[in-house]
Amino acid sequence: PETITIQELANRMSERAVDVIRLLMKQGQIHKITDVIDSDSAQLIAEELGHTVRRVAESDVEEGLVSDEPDLEEDLDPRPPVVTIMGHVDHGKTSLLDAIRKTTVVSGEAGGITQHIGAYQVAAPSGDMVTFIDTPGHAAFTSMRARGAKVTDIVVLVVAADDGVMPQTVEAISHAKAAGVPLILAINKIDKPEANPQRVRTELLQHDIQVESMGGETLEFEVSAKTGDGLSDLLEGLQLQAEIMNLRANEQRDGEGTVIEAKLDRGRGPVATVLVQRGTLFTGDIVVAGAEWGRVRALIDDKGENVPYAGPSVPVEVLGFNGTPDAGDRVVVVPNEARAREVTEYRARQKRERIAARTGGANRSLVDMMR
Ligand code: GDP
Ligand code: MG
Repeated sequence: PETITIQELANRMSERAVDVIRLLMKQGQIHKITDVIDSDSAQLIAEELGHTVRRVAESDVEEGLVSDEPDLEEDLDPRPPVVTIMGHVDHGKTSLLDAIRKTTVVSGEAGGITQHIGAYQVAAPSGDMVTFIDTPGHAAFTSMRARGAKVTDIVVLVVAADDGVMPQTVEAISHAKAAGVPLILAINKIDKPEANPQRVRTELLQHDIQVESMGGETLEFEVSAKTGDGLSDLLEGLQLQAEIMNLRANEQRDGEGTVIEAKLDRGRGPVATVLVQRGTLFTGDIVVAGAEWGRVRALIDDKGENVPYAGPSVPVEVLGFNGTPDAGDRVVVVPNEARAREVTEYRARQKRERIAARTGGANRSLVDMMR
């Protein structure tokens, strides 16, 4: 059943909480301001105080926020794969991300300096784009997944050829499996004299990863983040995997995506890095993300340049939010500010009530704590 705190009920009616408490007391109920009552009691109180009650179910407010009409086949176009690099600490995740970014930066392009926005796109040798999510660490991956956000199409598992399979390698494999995301193996540090890539392949068999050269299906690449060896093959492999997966999206609809990271910037206000996943996001759009909304003031790409729009699989910084959304929040375009307010105020209330119920309730369940 839906519930509301007495404070919140009073706020919504612009009444004093003490008056609500007094009315409840008349009905023989003793309550504090932070107590939660059910929606039927709340309605009675509201009517007694002369208010007209319009009960809005979650489904009503959230209804139609995202069109669930499937895209027409002819509206779908291939989109770049979105890739996350995972692996044991020190096996070269950061080095690999940097090396891939560098190999594909056109010489002279702003001295090769790219602004860090938590994700970037590069062109594979074929010219097709590949998107990398640059939030290394399994924590980001798992926390987003826990929130139901699916932002990765392919996991690149990095294993250092001189170290082999280690605990976080195994962890990464189970993350990818749990998420149902295909995995591509990058055996890194092959420049090292003590590199033993064959050992890596053999060790992975124990974790149900069978690479192509051993008769399996997992694409594998020997690479060196240090020398750049094998990187273009890896990119080609990612592109190939994307083709196999037939990754497509309709860019002719309102933009939708996920917040990858967000922060409050002193000069620019709330800044959210958003991965667009469907449709096209434009400057001027009114967007909602979690309990925050805003009119898109600027979109900034991974090269630090202002862009007028961003399509599927494109990561962009979004400026214009009124507050800082959370990583994992779903971003959707809404028709007008009134709708944005309705949705975010509702969500903010839900959030407050969850917190109130949690701190007030004696037997909070694990499920509640993890929401
Ligand atoms: P991460 O913890 O997985 O992000 O690993 P890093 O990218 O920070 O790399 C850990 C160490 O390995 C650093 O000292 C890197 O310079 C080194 N390293 C990474 N890739 C290579 C490589 O391909 N060859 C060699 N020789 N060293 C590497
Ligand atoms: Mg790192």
